[in-house]
Amino acid sequence: MKAGNSVAQASPSRRLLCRETHPSSPLLVRSDNDPILTEGDIAIGSEDERNANPCTSQDCKWLKNADGKVYVPYYIANHYSDREKAIITRGLESFSSFSCIFFRPTQSGDHEWLSIESNNGCSSFVGRRGGKQVVSLARSGCLYHGTVQHELLHALGFNHEHSRSDRDNHIRVMLQNVQSGKEHNFRKVATLNQGTPYDYNSVMQYRKNAFSKNNQPTMVPIPDPNVSFGNAKEMSHNDKVRLNTLYKCCEC
Ligand SMILES: [Zn+2]
Repeated sequence: MKAGNSVAQASPSRRLLCRETHPSSPLLVRSDNDPILTEGDIAIGSEDERNANPCTSQDCKWLKNADGKVYVPYYIANHYSDREKAIITRGLESFSSFSCIFFRPTQSGDHEWLSIESNNGCSSFVGRRGGKQVVSLARSGCLYHGTVQHELLHALGFNHEHSRSDRDNHIRVMLQNVQSGKEHNFRKVATLNQGTPYDYNSVMQYRKNAFSKNNQPTMVPIPDPNVSFGNAKEMSHNDKVRLNTLYKCCEC
């Protein structure tokens, strides 16, 4: 199966956002006791996977090609209109302008790929799973540039900003305002953060009222409770640095 859109090649002048040092560990290292993420838009394969740790046991990073690029095959379902496909394609293509990630249409012989479909809401697995891997971008509510980037970052192995290991230094989670049964969206994950600071402007940061049951904030910034956050329309500088660091895009 092939998608209709091809990914543009990055221009030679593209500039990567890189840190000066590169930790050798992948981003997503979780302890054996950490449950697999089941936050709002993060998919799980089955109940049995709740306690699995696929990133550490199977390496959920996508593999780098000999040319130093990471090619991630994708297929876009036919039920999208041309306008909707254009939004998705713009999100896919954006990655090659600031990283070594190149999303490309599926080809025969691909063993793993993203299948972008309009299912229930916006959702993605975290990291590479092998085989067909659905990224749901519902036609209603998910077709925004930042949302496309957000779900693709999940597929590349990233968690939500408010799940970061150091989040308690930057946001206070107000569980008393969280809808009953939605508390798992605010679990903390033992992420490695690639030396990047907590970023209120990350495209992976939820809004302050996410999953609120009473219109009161479910997250409050520390130390200044009036700092605005969760309003990113596209990947931030730190999102890009983090991606380039995890995939060692800056190492030739
Ligand atoms: Zn998400």
